[in-house]
Amino acid sequence: MTSWEENVLKVVPYVPGEQPKEKDIIKLNTNENPYPPSPKVEKVIKDFDVEVLRKYPDPEALDLVRALAKAYQMPEDQIFVGVGSDDVLAMSFLTFFHGEKPILFPDITYSFYDVWANEFEIPFETKPLNENFEIVKEDYFGENGGIVIPNPNAPTGLACSVSQLEEIVKANPSSVVIIDEAYGDFNGESMLPLVEKYENLLVVMTFSKSRSLAGSRIGFAFGSKKLISYLKDVKYSFNSYTMDSLTIQIGKASLEDEEYFTNCVEKIVETREWTKEKLLELGFSFPASKTNFIFATHKSAKAEDIFEYLKSKKIFVRYFKKPRIDNYLRISIGTKEEMEALIKELKAYL
Ligand SMILES: *Cc1c(COP(=O)(O)O)cnc(C)c1O
Repeated sequence: MTSWEENVLKVVPYVPGEQPKEKDIIKLNTNENPYPPSPKVEKVIKDFDVEVLRKYPDPEALDLVRALAKAYQMPEDQIFVGVGSDDVLAMSFLTFFHGEKPILFPDITYSFYDVWANEFEIPFETKPLNENFEIVKEDYFGENGGIVIPNPNAPTGLACSVSQLEEIVKANPSSVVIIDEAYGDFNGESMLPLVEKYENLLVVMTFSKSRSLAGSRIGFAFGSKKLISYLKDVKYSFNSYTMDSLTIQIGKASLEDEEYFTNCVEKIVETREWTKEKLLELGFSFPASKTNFIFATHKSAKAEDIFEYLKSKKIFVRYFKKPRIDNYLRISIGTKEEMEALIKELKAYL
């Protein structure tokens, strides 16, 4: 190793799902929304005045923050926005997980958590999900330097009840507890109402899944005034102008079309339930999904083989070669037509 390399921060990066370049792919591998963003978003883009780009964007993204305040009935000073919830989560790790004790998260979960912990040199400990892939709340009652749990969890799709998560928050007054609700809109239950009650609770959400805006990179969080203010201090000490002027307006427009949003979420949930029935008929089983994906395993066919076969048929799903889950496929819910094509290929293979 040359000498300068000794001074390099070396990390094992997060590996996102494939983004194939071909057009005729059925893409069920990164939990994107199969429907386009609201027509109001399209209008904002068409009418956007490029002159605006001459100037720096509003570092506070106030137009977006105000729209979030209105949509979620929360005060502006309890809202933080970032470039995707990955940005919000990374900033939160930097800000709140600065102690000596290990932070806790499940062994099977969003695979970015251990990447950030390693990158920021945060000690961590994973808590195994039980044999049904459920979170065991008592695992989070001991000493720790912070907690992060996605609800519903990914890639399992299982949700933990708000009352169980509240017990975890309550048991940890000396740590910040982050609940990552990337899939919360498909779940129908949120920790948001508890933000008023617990100063140490941060609830993180995203426009990437339920609002069809993965490409715009918009994430946000709700927390106590104190939490949000600490988070902003760190963010502004890192890069103040993260969200661009157009994206701020895109996010605002999306929030102003509640009907379109609710309708897309309903369609996805309906297609998810249809897909579950078909998968059961084909010999698959899966935890009860509360998200826009199904985490399925087959009684005899190997997940990795199914994954490769589907790929050869231009249907991309996600396969994780990791302990405990290496015989599962994570299948995002597409349109009804896409799911019909998937079922047809699965039938042919099996
Ligand atoms: C998709 C996802 C995110 C990140 O989404 P962004 O596109 O960065 O907003 C965060 N957490 C979980 C659990 C996810 O699945």
